[in-house]
Amino acid sequence: MLIIFTAKSPSDRLEDDFTLKTLKALPNINVQVSKINSGEHTIYQALLEGSTQGISTENIASLPGVLEVIPLESELKLIGKKASLQGFEFNYNGVDFSQRSLNLFLGLCAVDNQQNVEHTFKVLSKFGLDCARMGVYKPRTSPYYFQGLGKECLNYVFELAGKYNIKVIAMEVMHPEHIDEIDAALQETQSPTGVMLQIGTRNAQNFSLLKAVGSQNRYPVLFKRGFGITLNESLHAAEYLAKSGNKNIIFCLRGVKSLCAAPHRNLTDFSQVPVIKRLTNMPVGIDPSHAVGSLAKDENKISDIFHATAQGILAGANLLLADVHPHPPAAIVDSRQAISLDNIEWYLEDINIAYQAYRQRQRLASKFNQTKTMETAEYAS
Ligand code: PEP
Ligand code: MN
Repeated sequence: MLIIFTAKSPSDRLEDDFTLKTLKALPNINVQVSKINSGEHTIYQALLEGSTQGISTENIASLPGVLEVIPLESELKLIGKKASLQGFEFNYNGVDFSQRSLNLFLGLCAVDNQQNVEHTFKVLSKFGLDCARMGVYKPRTSPYYFQGLGKECLNYVFELAGKYNIKVIAMEVMHPEHIDEIDAALQETQSPTGVMLQIGTRNAQNFSLLKAVGSQNRYPVLFKRGFGITLNESLHAAEYLAKSGNKNIIFCLRGVKSLCAAPHRNLTDFSQVPVIKRLTNMPVGIDPSHAVGSLAKDENKISDIFHATAQGILAGANLLLADVHPHPPAAIVDSRQAISLDNIEWYLEDINIAYQAYRQRQRLASKFNQTKTMETAEYAS
C-alpha cells in the first residue's frame, strides 16, 4: 500500500508528523518514507509493506494530510515489485529490455512518405541505433486532421527498417484490427524487423484494446500512461496487459494534461520514473516530445525537449521515445516538437552525458549506502 501525504510545512519535523507516527504504529508493517516533491508543501510517500490486508483504506485516507491511498499489493498482482520478474526482463528480436537497459526509439510521429522514412532510418542507423518509432495509425483531436497512412505504408516501413538494420519499431495501435494488419504486412515482407505495439495515452483505459493487445505474445507493448488519470489508475490499466497474458510491457511517462503545464503541452512527470521502478517490475520509458511539445530554447540554445530528456535519463529511464523528422516544418503531425535529423548527433551526445551522469549517481549511491551499511554493522556489533 502506498500513501501520498503532505507535511504541514517544510520546517516541520517529519518524525513528529501525526500521520506518519500512526502508520508506523500499525502492527506487522514496515514503513518506508521518501520525499517526492518539495515546495510550499512537501509531499511524501510512505510505502507500507507486510500484512496490509486488514488495513482500512478509508481510515488511512482520513488521516491529516493524506492525498491518496494506493492499495498496490492487493491489485498489482502481476506487474507489482513483489511478483515474479519473469517476462518483464525480455529480449525481443535481439534487443534487451529491462529496468537496467536504455533503448532509444527516435523516429517519425507520423509516417508521411517513403522518402522521409528512409531518410530517418538511414540517419538512425548511421548513429548505430537499432530501434525507432513510426506512427501509422494516428489518434487525432479532430476528425478532419490527417489520420495516419494506415496499412498502406506498412510494407515499405518494415522493408526499409530491415534495410537499415532497425530491429524494433514502436507503433501505436488503436484497434485490434491494426494488429492483424501488422501481422499481415510482416508476413508479406518476411519480417525484416520487429514491432512494439504502443497503447496511446488516449487509450490507456480502453480495456478491450488492452485485453486484445495483452492476449498476444508476438509483440511487446509500450504502454503510455493516461494523461488525465492518476498514476495508480494507469498502473492498473497496465495490469490488464499482464493479466491477459503479456508481461513484455514498457510503462511510458509522457506528461499529464494540466493548465499548469503552459507553455508546455503537458506537465512533465519524469520524477515518477523511480516511483514506477520501485513499485513494479516494468522498464520505464519517457516521451519528452509529447510531454513538452515544443523546441523552445534556453540561453544556451538547448531546447526544452533536450532538457526534459536529460531529466528523465538522469532519473533512470529505460526507454526514450522521441519525435524526429528530416524537415520538421513539413511534418504533418506535431511539427513543433520534431527534432531535425541534423540535430540527432547533438541530441545523442547530450543523452550520453545524462546517461553517464546517471551511472555516476548510481556509483555514488552505492558508495554511500556501503558506508551506511558498515556503520550500521559496527553499531550493531
Ligand atoms: C505518439 O506517441 O505518437 C502519441 C500520440 O503519444 P501520446 O499517446 O502519448 O499522446
Ligand atoms: Mn505526436
